[in-house]
Amino acid sequence: MKAHDGMYIDGAWRPAAQADTIEVVNPADEQVIARVPAGTALDVDAAVRAARAALPAWAATPPAERGAVLGALRDVLAARADEIAATVTAELGSPLAFSRKVQVGLPVTVAGTYAGLAASYAFEEKVAHSTVLHEPVGVVAAITPWNYPLHQIVAKAAPALAAGCTVVLKPAEHTPLTARHFAEAADEAGVPAGVLNLVTGLGPVAGQALVEHADVDMVSFTGSTAVGRRIGAAAGAAVKRVALELGGKSANVILPSADLARAVNVGVANVMSNSGQTCSAWTRMLVHTSRYEEAVELAAAAAAKYADRIGPLVSAGQRDRVRGYVEKGVAEGARLVAGGPEAPYERGYHVSPTVFADVTPEMTIAQEEIFGPVLSVLRYEDEDDAVRIANGTVYGLAGAVWAAEEAEAVAFARRLHTGQVDINGGRFNPLAPFGGYKQSGVGRELGAYGLSEYLQTKSLQF
Ligand code: NAD
Repeated sequence: MKAHDGMYIDGAWRPAAQADTIEVVNPADEQVIARVPAGTALDVDAAVRAARAALPAWAATPPAERGAVLGALRDVLAARADEIAATVTAELGSPLAFSRKVQVGLPVTVAGTYAGLAASYAFEEKVAHSTVLHEPVGVVAAITPWNYPLHQIVAKAAPALAAGCTVVLKPAEHTPLTARHFAEAADEAGVPAGVLNLVTGLGPVAGQALVEHADVDMVSFTGSTAVGRRIGAAAGAAVKRVALELGGKSANVILPSADLARAVNVGVANVMSNSGQTCSAWTRMLVHTSRYEEAVELAAAAAAKYADRIGPLVSAGQRDRVRGYVEKGVAEGARLVAGGPEAPYERGYHVSPTVFADVTPEMTIAQEEIFGPVLSVLRYEDEDDAVRIANGTVYGLAGAVWAAEEAEAVAFARRLHTGQVDINGGRFNPLAPFGGYKQSGVGRELGAYGLSEYLQTKSLQF
């Protein structure tokens, strides 16, 4: 491993203020692979001071130059892709091919989009006889989760830097080594000292100190709804800008006219990807009653194929939480048709690909985010029923609709209370906005929408 020890503050790697550490565990074999400093309010304060000091010069750097630095960052990440993918696999457990293609490939693409957007974005515009300036919000606290460790960092840091903000990053405790690669890449790419700072540490200690720091202008958080709620409250009390990307319980709605086998197979693949640890996963499959049993059989067969293809969950705690949900599904009367709560291997934090049939909308496994390889298949009677079930959770992050005719699927998608809908499978678009309705969050990431989160407007009247 090339990454340095310590924290990255003001363009240098330095030891933490206190000696406490966090163990990083490989979830495939349960071995400790590294220790990183458990940062405290002292480290956070040093990082925020560095970010504040670096802000005027970075904000005044012409956007095209900021874009050039982001382009260099993209290139360094791409050049180190194999090394970073190996680190993601070691600390998260995702299979190496997935780490290379998605865990690293996706953020490389996203960093590239911001290299371009920094140069092309209209930071100044005319509105009748006024000029509107879009100016950086200031010092940004970026607090990220472990499930797509590099992507979550890039989806915040790249637009923030493109906007002219400076950043203090506090990555998830389980995946700090990937974050170190990112800080190293920023350093190598020529991101000026203090513009990007990294503090590793525990959420309730380093994370909370960062959120509460008086000199942080904005908090951008991705993680659980429970923590997001607290961060939103703290930011509200201090009147700070906040962006929240939270949980989901997305519906995959298969209309009667759809190609059932394709919709079910793609739907199961979507849920099993990254062992189900994807906030936008289509964890509820909604099937018309006339084709319900056929869909359940297809889903069970599809899930079985993932038994030796998916990695472990990130931690013992996450595995136990997911198993608890599987047990709850059985206890509440859902029909287990694939997988189950038993451990499939002796070592590693594995959960079998699991499918539940006869799930009703009020069951816990149809309402709460499980964040594991668990699919709930629900039955609907007609289109209004499907809309009611699909919209019947506190979340609204993503979803999918399948129909023979695209127009039919689009008409249905308009009725969904959710931030993103894939039509007949969809294709990922790194420029399209991503984010939640309802309790799935506040604000949007990716593309120009993601960039505008880090800007505030000033109007000059003439
Ligand atoms: P989490 O909320 O426990 O932690 C996320 C981050 O917040 C971590 O860096 C953690 O250290 C930090 N944190 C924890 N407590 C904090 C506090 N009191 N103050 C400040 N920071 C604190 O979530 P997790 O377990 O890392 O991730 C899983 C959850 O994240 C799932 O619910 C998932 O849906 C959600 N998620 C959402 C998205 C999205 O884009 N909407 C993406 C990935 C994950």
